[in-house]
Amino acid sequence: MGKITGFLEVDRQDRKYLPASDRIRNYNEFVIPLPEDTLKSQAGRCMDCGIPFCHNGCPVNNQIPDWNDLVYNDSWHEAFLNLHSTNNFPEFTGRICPAPCEASCTLNLQEQPVTIKSIECAIVDRGWAEGWVLADVPATKTGKKVAVIGSGPAGMACAQQLARRGHDVHLFEKNAKAGGLLRYGIPDFKMEKHLIDRRVDQMTAEGVTFHFGVHIGKDMSARELTSSFDAVVLTGGSETPRDLPVEGRDLAGVHFAMDFLPQQNRRVSGEPLMNVEPILAGGKHVVVIGGGDTGSDCIGTSFRQGALSVTQLEIMPAPPEKENKLLTWPDWPLKMRTSSSQAEGAVRDFAVLTRRILGENGHVTGIECIRVDSKMQPIEGTEFTLKADLVLLAMGFIHPVHEGMLKELELPLDPRGNVAADTATYKTPLSNVFAAGDMRRGQSLVVWAIREGRQAAREVDLFLMGETTLPR
Ligand SMILES: Cc1cc2nc3c(=O)[nH]c(=O)nc-3n(C[C@H](O)[C@H](O)[C@H](O)COP(=O)(O)OP(=O)(O)OC[C@H]3O[C@@H](n4cnc5c(N)ncnc54)[C@H](O)[C@@H]3O)c2cc1C
Ligand code: SF4
Repeated sequence: MGKITGFLEVDRQDRKYLPASDRIRNYNEFVIPLPEDTLKSQAGRCMDCGIPFCHNGCPVNNQIPDWNDLVYNDSWHEAFLNLHSTNNFPEFTGRICPAPCEASCTLNLQEQPVTIKSIECAIVDRGWAEGWVLADVPATKTGKKVAVIGSGPAGMACAQQLARRGHDVHLFEKNAKAGGLLRYGIPDFKMEKHLIDRRVDQMTAEGVTFHFGVHIGKDMSARELTSSFDAVVLTGGSETPRDLPVEGRDLAGVHFAMDFLPQQNRRVSGEPLMNVEPILAGGKHVVVIGGGDTGSDCIGTSFRQGALSVTQLEIMPAPPEKENKLLTWPDWPLKMRTSSSQAEGAVRDFAVLTRRILGENGHVTGIECIRVDSKMQPIEGTEFTLKADLVLLAMGFIHPVHEGMLKELELPLDPRGNVAADTATYKTPLSNVFAAGDMRRGQSLVVWAIREGRQAAREVDLFLMGETTLPR
């Protein structure tokens, strides 16, 4: 334990943001790292609980009290090694994880959780700055070949673990670059993409062969891979968006969030837009339908493009300002949260149903809405309209794309349309085919994708070698 009385003496202090008026002028990250002495005193607040509830909250089982203690005692390199023993990419989670560990922290019972995410991010950022991140090249090769399909966080974590074990790993990706939604969904202002590039370099040095621009099931047969590789891991994500089947849906100016966001990420990185119609929010009144992470990313991107106004609509009622801790802790509570993008000036409205999308000359001009009650039934007489030049649909993702790879493999699906694979072994009914990440569990979080990629790698290793030293 860091400082025995730390939690009594020191208040929680977390990273701050650059002012909204400054940060919306570019697509750079805007979170200001904490100084070293603050990080140390914050780490010293950890009580090293007998039952560390933070562990329960963390899908990758980060050994949080251990590295808090190490940071408090200036053992940064040891903290760096400890952090990497459970998480391949802590600089990703240190930036974009919603931090269920902090919700579970015992000190959250008094709204003062340890600043776990900021400490995690500081440890790994320091590791990169100090040159501690090295390629972990295996001493011997196993002679086994593994194909991983999809280079999101699940595929990257899986491929890295398997390559370090000595397998010959080939990672196939339909896009031009690695990262999945980290690269093309999550905007640069939340996570800059050079962070992915340097991990790709590390993984290449460790023996992973990346094949970009290869759409399995379209450019290359999935069956061919299952016969030419000893094992195949499907980590293709959950890319089918939930649609809004209302009148006016086909008007110009109504788009899925994931048609809008990747364009901006490509612009920032200088990647061509691939002959698609540019979707831009500059000078427009934007309505974002859907209140989650994707909706927030649409808001922040719209403001940076120069939107006149951004309104975000959510069909669910507004959650309570504060959770009842005794009912919810240590679980993730439903409560009002305001993302950094929402705080940049979005108008938010809850319990609102979109009835139809209005247009003139084939282009959207507004949307017609109605308020709903607690059972999500329309309340007649509460209709209203909003002006809109651009409508972005950000209502989540229903399941992976079935056309192509999954149809070709004739893989059974679970009742939600995800690839049916065992939660413990990640095995599909096809003997050498595994599935992990959003493709198996449905739309989720980066930290869950990393967990599934790591755990699936262990199961693949066990399947190939009859034994494994990889961690679960
Ligand atoms: C806009 C947005 C914002 C988000 N923000 C956050 C956030 O702030 N924090 C958080 O924790 N989570 C966030 N998420 C969720 C998170 O990004 C996902 O849960 C996570 O990326 C899933 O990882 P994955 O590896 O399973 O799949 P993905 O990241 O979806 O990667 C799948 C990859 O497989 C490739 N692929 C698919 N099919 C094929 C094929 N047949 N052949 C070749 N390649 C294929 C795809 O091109 C893609 O690169 C967000 C999601 C979105 C859409
Ligand atoms: S629950 Fe909080 S205080 Fe307890 S060990 Fe984990 S981080 Fe430290």
